[in-house]
Amino acid sequence: MNETKLTEFRTRLHDMADDLDRQDDRGQDSQKTVTLDQQSVGRLSRMDAIQQQAMAKATQARRNQMHMRIKSALSRIEDGEFGYCVQCGDDISAARLDLDPSIPICMSCAKA
Ligand SMILES: [Zn+2]
Repeated sequence: MNETKLTEFRTRLHDMADDLDRQDDRGQDSQKTVTLDQQSVGRLSRMDAIQQQAMAKATQARRNQMHMRIKSALSRIEDGEFGYCVQCGDDISAARLDLDPSIPICMSCAKA
């Protein structure tokens, strides 16, 4: 993979990480709101609130996972290993990386 393409992917990965950071800030706000509301609402809405909080937590967990994926993709760029499947070492197709530069494995490993 050439330097220009790598720089492009590096920029995209940083953008993705920034987006996640912004979403993190919003997510924490909504979790806070739910906690405060619990004192003033009835039982049913409290169950709603708990459900919403669980969903917010699940979303947060997904975001954390995504963050780790982006981080390790960035370190693969630094190590010169970006674009190779972390499982089998084959090239990951350019189309696949264009779709999501944080993808760590090739199509055949993803299917397996
Ligand atoms: Zn593979």
